Amino acid sequence: MKGYAPYYSRLERVDLKPVLVPHSDYQALVLHQLRTHYGPGVVLINKDWPLAAKLWMTDLSAITTLLQDDYSDQGPAARDPASLLRSYLLLLMTNPEMGITEWVNELKRTPIYAILSGFPLDDLPGVGTFYDFFDRLWPAVDKHLKPKKQRKRKGKAKKGKKKGEKAPTTTPGRVERLVKWMMRHADKKTALPADKLFDFFQSQIVSMSAKFGLLGDLSALSAAGDGTPIVTAAYPRSKPSCDCRARGIAECNHPRIYSQPDCNSGWDSARERYFNGYHLYMISAADSKHDLPLYPRLQPASRHDAVSLVISAVEFKQRFTLGAVDKMLLDAAHDAESIYLLLEHQGMEPFIDLNVRSKKNTVSKTASDIRISPKGIPICPKGKEMKPNGTDRKLHRRKWRCSPDCGCSTAKFGRTFYTKTSDDPRLFPKTPRDSEKWKLVYKRRTSIERSNKREKVDYKLESGRHRSTMMWYMRIYGIMICQHMDAWYVSQKDEWDKLKSTICPTAA
Ligand SMILES: [Zn+2]
Ligand SMILES: [Zn+2]
Repeated sequence: MKGYAPYYSRLERVDLKPVLVPHSDYQALVLHQLRTHYGPGVVLINKDWPLAAKLWMTDLSAITTLLQDDYSDQGPAARDPASLLRSYLLLLMTNPEMGITEWVNELKRTPIYAILSGFPLDDLPGVGTFYDFFDRLWPAVDKHLKPKKQRKRKGKAKKGKKKGEKAPTTTPGRVERLVKWMMRHADKKTALPADKLFDFFQSQIVSMSAKFGLLGDLSALSAAGDGTPIVTAAYPRSKPSCDCRARGIAECNHPRIYSQPDCNSGWDSARERYFNGYHLYMISAADSKHDLPLYPRLQPASRHDAVSLVISAVEFKQRFTLGAVDKMLLDAAHDAESIYLLLEHQGMEPFIDLNVRSKKNTVSKTASDIRISPKGIPICPKGKEMKPNGTDRKLHRRKWRCSPDCGCSTAKFGRTFYTKTSDDPRLFPKTPRDSEKWKLVYKRRTSIERSNKREKVDYKLESGRHRSTMMWYMRIYGIMICQHMDAWYVSQKDEWDKLKSTICPTAA
């Protein structure tokens, strides 16, 4: 199989294969430790109750099975992977700006966090144990996607012209070439180092959300996609790979060694400044009331939304097995003919706003005197919007008419005009942009913006002070799991709150 080089020798597999700890054992340990530490009348303060409920109800034990091959057949007993994961989620839920080192201290200071993690109070893990666990979730030699040695970077990314405006679309030719390449290779899945994380996330977390009915109609899901900047450092760090400088040669073309090879510089349209880091492209379940994320992908900061979508749409389609995605909702930055082609090919109906800046909206291919408005409505030579005059379902075309008094035509009943999806799927999509259905479907697109915002604002995604792409993926998947668990709690609140009397019997 094509893809990354698996690690085998990178990790010293010194720890014995962990034994699967059934979730009921975890629950029993929590009860026992709560009773012995706080006495029989445990009272959880209000802030801690939802945390307890979420962790009590979420069975993470499958992570142990997933990691079996990454441990040794002998050696000291390994720490329960499910507890390490639970503890990391607890960090994100309570102190998202904390690093692992501080968290290990926090566990000592705050016994309730250690108990809810599933650690015996007299045997807390150290920092290295957490990092060993993360390493095992990333089955590639390299903690970055690209090699550190790279050609010298030239020039700066383009910026948007107006406030809030994204950088101009990369040349449509580039998107088109990528689409053609991806369509030729779409049935060959290339393994990615983040696949292990996705497998766990899909089989244990997203599947629960599906079971709770939180994703929408599984046989016809609406997905939304959008990119967001992840600022990792103020400046890119690199050093020369040669000694030209020392030999008095000021300018050379030798590659440099970049400490964060997957990051570069891009334009942040919301903050209106250049930044160094990643472009996180996320696909979410658009019909989900809880704006639940489905597939994350880290790209270099300079990458454009349209390019990221092409890669993400194909990778997602290859990996997502819980339902059929039949609509993809995207903003005008994705308005490129080849993206319509790709999505149709993937069996998804594109819902994409027309980019008003695009010159391609003005001239119709079929009649040179008719222009098309940003909503996809034909404009007659006198500048009036033509009126819809029925749909011919057999010929898959819509009829438009201008009244005779407009004067744009000498025809007895006024000017008529036909639009056909096959003529231009971009200007005349299957679901017309001026229809009620379009409005209903497309208004859910902002779900992806709320999801991305939740990760960045509430879960402080950018506060991770990580140097490796591996750790950024851990953080992103961790936060995504929290988002799903939050949704479970909110949607099952009445049911789950009844557990209070089991976990803390004297609490009202
Ligand atoms: Zn050199
Ligand atoms: Zn007219």
